[in-house]
Amino acid sequence: MMRARFWGTRGSLPVALTAAGVRLKLLAALRAARGRPLATESDLERVLASLPFAESGTYGGHSSCVQIETGGFDYFVCDMGSGLRPFGHAAMAQRSAGAGQTFHIFLSHLHWDHIMGLPFFVPAFVPGNRVRVYGCHDRLEAALLRQQEQPSFPVDFSIFGAKIEFVRLEPDRAYEIDGVKVTPMLQRHGGDSYGYRFEAQGKAVVYSTDSEHPLEQPGHTARFVEFFRDADLVIFDAMYSLADAVSIKADWGHSSNIVGVELCQMAGAKHLCLFHHEPVFDDAAIDAVLAETRRLEEITRGAKRLRVSAAYDGLEIGL
Ligand SMILES: [Zn+2]
Ligand SMILES: [Zn+2]
Repeated sequence: MMRARFWGTRGSLPVALTAAGVRLKLLAALRAARGRPLATESDLERVLASLPFAESGTYGGHSSCVQIETGGFDYFVCDMGSGLRPFGHAAMAQRSAGAGQTFHIFLSHLHWDHIMGLPFFVPAFVPGNRVRVYGCHDRLEAALLRQQEQPSFPVDFSIFGAKIEFVRLEPDRAYEIDGVKVTPMLQRHGGDSYGYRFEAQGKAVVYSTDSEHPLEQPGHTARFVEFFRDADLVIFDAMYSLADAVSIKADWGHSSNIVGVELCQMAGAKHLCLFHHEPVFDDAAIDAVLAETRRLEEITRGAKRLRVSAAYDGLEIGL
């Protein structure tokens, strides 16, 4: 069985829930509790269950990092945003000695929000571990070394005790890595970005973030429909609403929930997961985008239903 675990889902910049945000959630919970029985723990659980996710939970604030469980022994990870740090702690806790683990990390691109987690990735400090960083950019290694140079960061790249290797991939070629077929594809984004399609055990997961989709180019659309074809899960850059995507932010290198539905429907994909959330959006705003996207899917549905969810830090989707 394949499974996606989301460790960082926010775009551009990590954000934290504020005191004012916590207060709003508490008020909502107290309001929902009015006049209801509250004597037992299950009474309390019932009140919480009656709240929308924006009030009982939070989408979270780490920048891009998604773990793909493939059924194999090694770890597969997409991007090294600030979510890489909690992922690293979980990986350390999972194996008793903490040593002898292999991490295959696939980078969409080298923008800061996708690499900033590496200096805080504890498994990279452990001798005996292997960290293999895959990507299609020329300056893969240089960008990561530079991130940890003075005066930007106090600790040099040579501090890592694990064996760190860089693997350059070519787009549109399928690679076999620890029993998983991995295919990168070029995407439209400032300085280029790459999506990845992972296939194992008859399942397919596509990770496609920081990707702009020019609606007026049929060749571009056809390429992505093929890339998403029959995928069990598409993790999709839905940073903007359509109004944003076709107006002022047209050339900012991101996409919208609307385009995600269109491409997934054309491709016959089963599940669209909205990802790389706009840092300005609070939980209520992301809930609203999700509700709007589900409505759109319903009214445009063909023969096949497309499931739609919005990624949050801690979400797991089993396939
Ligand atoms: Zn980004
Ligand atoms: Zn970017």
